[in-house]
Amino acid sequence: MSTTRLHVDWTACDGRGLCAELLPGLLAEDDWGYPVARGGEAEPAVPRHLEDSARHAVDRCPAPALRLVRR
Ligand code: SF4
Repeated sequence: MSTTRLHVDWTACDGRGLCAELLPGLLAEDDWGYPVARGGEAEPAVPRHLEDSARHAVDRCPAPALRLVRR
């Protein structure tokens, strides 16, 4: 069974940290403003209760560098 995951395209991300502000339960900012998963995963799984917030963060990402993937 696949899982919805948050993928960051590091070549496009400008590190302003908006996604970490919109998804504080899933992401934090590193010292330079780039998003890091709170659990340390490269592609954190998005819990069902955060899927709407994750879609909102994807829509708001200015790069755009953020997307949802199924893996
Ligand atoms: S909102 Fe987009 S551009 Fe900004 S830090 Fe997050 S992934 Fe990077």
